[in-house]
Amino acid sequence: MALSPTFASTRHLQAGTHEVAQNEGGHLSSYSECQKHPGHLPFFSVNDFGVDALGNVPQGFCKEDVVSWVKSWAPLVVKICSLFISEQRPPTWENQSPYPFADIRGQFVNHMGSGCVRVVLGPIEGLCFCYSCSKSGVKKNKYWEIQILTARHVVFDDLEANWCNIVCFDERPDKNGTQIVRSCKVLDADTEKDTCCLLCYTHSSDLAQNLKRLSDTRYEIDLRVAQNVKERCSQLREEDKSRPTFRTIKELRDQRDETDAKIAQLLLDKTTYRLLVFVISHPHGCAKRITVGHHRGREKGCLTYKAATCPGSSGGAVLILGLRVVSEALWRKEWCGRFESAPHSCALETGVGRSAAWLWDT
Ligand SMILES: [Zn+2]
Ligand SMILES: [Zn+2]
Repeated sequence: MALSPTFASTRHLQAGTHEVAQNEGGHLSSYSECQKHPGHLPFFSVNDFGVDALGNVPQGFCKEDVVSWVKSWAPLVVKICSLFISEQRPPTWENQSPYPFADIRGQFVNHMGSGCVRVVLGPIEGLCFCYSCSKSGVKKNKYWEIQILTARHVVFDDLEANWCNIVCFDERPDKNGTQIVRSCKVLDADTEKDTCCLLCYTHSSDLAQNLKRLSDTRYEIDLRVAQNVKERCSQLREEDKSRPTFRTIKELRDQRDETDAKIAQLLLDKTTYRLLVFVISHPHGCAKRITVGHHRGREKGCLTYKAATCPGSSGGAVLILGLRVVSEALWRKEWCGRFESAPHSCALETGVGRSAAWLWDT
């Protein structure tokens, strides 16, 4: 069931600056030249990210839980190094603003964005489709499939996917632990939503099983944090049943002339405004960084947020803390399966970031 029943506005999304790093080498010196965030103070390395980075967290959340939740996502975020700009890119978005790199379609240009591992499938019995097997002509007979979610303006189609290197675990200044896998094709993409799911094949069981284990760990931590929050929230509710939020929700539910979906959306806006947001990405194609901010509302199925991003952040993981917990606590069960992460899409003139339209449309 589509969960975006009342995104009926035909108004186009406001144009934003899409944040792909072009011709940047991924050296730390790129930071020193940054015009957008001189000094890069809001950007934490994964290692340095801790409770001190958080400021205030909402009632019901424990800071240590929040840090472990964010850090469980971090290893799944990858750098995408792309070389080619497809001739199939459109000249403009629907709102007529220029589509990224439309002026250099068909050319080889070094550009970088970010992505996040969505799922690892395998081992699959059969001839491996990976780049090295295809090139060598000697195919391994067991392989894994890695799906990576990014923004479509980072990787547009199969032609571009063929020229992408996916850099995993680029978190340390010395690049230790970094592993590279070649992407292969686009599984699914949508231009206006700015979503792209890339497929990579590998016969490296070390890499695949490591990513799979990290995905499982992320899921377990998510469940544990959600359970802790639910328990704390139910205690808070008992302590203060007159909290305005809950009274308002009851009032909304009593409005029988509203549809469920509309009520759910009103609740969504009321209860998720200013939830904590984290962006994990590879600004300037450098090592992975985490920034912290707040949710600023929805715009046609996209998240908007105030959190620092730079060129290279496009496609990085935007996480909204507590969204699923809020969903499960308040809404119909079919609203509860939604994702808590969406790819970063662009920065608006106001300094607010906007995600791809991934989160609300499953
Ligand atoms: Zn920067
Ligand atoms: Zn292979």
